[in-house]
Amino acid sequence: EARLLTPNPQEGDFSDKSLRPLSLETFVGQEPLRRNLRVFIDSAKVRGEALDHVLFFGSPGLGKTTLAQIVAQELGVNFRITSGPTISRAGDLAALLTNLQPRDVLFIDEIHRLNTAVEEILYPALEDFKLDLMIGEGPAARSLRIDLQPFTLIGATTRSGLLSAPLRDRFGVLLNLVFYTPLELQRILLQAATKLDLSLPSEAAFELARRSRGTPRVALRLLRRVRNFAVVQQSSCVEVALVRQALDHLDVDEVGLDALDRRYLSHIALYFLGGPVGIETLAAALAEERETLEEIVEPFLIQQGFLQRTSRGRVLSPKAYTHLGLPSPASPEV
Ligand code: ADP
Repeated sequence: EARLLTPNPQEGDFSDKSLRPLSLETFVGQEPLRRNLRVFIDSAKVRGEALDHVLFFGSPGLGKTTLAQIVAQELGVNFRITSGPTISRAGDLAALLTNLQPRDVLFIDEIHRLNTAVEEILYPALEDFKLDLMIGEGPAARSLRIDLQPFTLIGATTRSGLLSAPLRDRFGVLLNLVFYTPLELQRILLQAATKLDLSLPSEAAFELARRSRGTPRVALRLLRRVRNFAVVQQSSCVEVALVRQALDHLDVDEVGLDALDRRYLSHIALYFLGGPVGIETLAAALAEERETLEEIVEPFLIQQGFLQRTSRGRVLSPKAYTHLGLPSPASPEV
């Protein structure tokens, strides 16, 4: 997908290695979550046991992978990374699990996309560090039980509700990542600029921050784009005027909404009289995937107060009309 503000990874994003924070202390934002993690990590270390299984949930690009790496780093263990859609057969998972060293961290991104057969192998592994494998088929089939090293599973998903209840129940620690404030994103951008040896005045960093949909991945991508604008203009410094010019050019508005966000909002205003409108109807009208709207577009619009999800469908808030420059309906039906 070519959307500039997509929180999903894109080709050309800064390589994660150089800019990823390496410790809980240098990780910006997510205050309560970091405090919780600190306690869990320290107590696991004192007990000399594997950390409880952890589920991170929240929009893409908010730092779930980064935090999982930090957890492994802080525990002083290996970090193994995979994703739900990659593990297609039970044997793939068995191979991963049997290769873990004591207390290692196994990170499964998009864990809600594990298939059921794989998920069922995972349950005893999570509970008792045992693998129950079926060897062969039909009357000759027999089951094989393998002991595993104690390990920590860190799962990541966009919404905890996407997981099956039995899988969700096997996580001891559920942690929600939230959108970042402009001030937090400003700090992340200033840190990144320092590492990139780029001159970025704090005012310019703030302008970028407030137009980044509350998402570090987006903020860093925009930083990369404006750096390119600066290079083209043979400027050694990313001034705030340049940021404004670049973002206007890239069609990111002053509250960080892009063309799809605005199209989404104005569709509800103009064609569905402000709602309520069902998600399927909207997806068809916009010719977008329902998942894209639910996982990518809506969470930020809801968090910013442009939109409400009600039992009868999506409803625009007065703030959305103001932003679109449209008259608000006389008595909005909520
Ligand atoms: P997710 O796994 O939630 O999709 P990532 O962990 O891959 O997100 O983070 C996306 C990008 O944003 C990475 O380049 C990462 O370095 C950066 N990032 C995320 N959170 C932070 C943070 N709190 N501080 C600094 N950089 C961050």
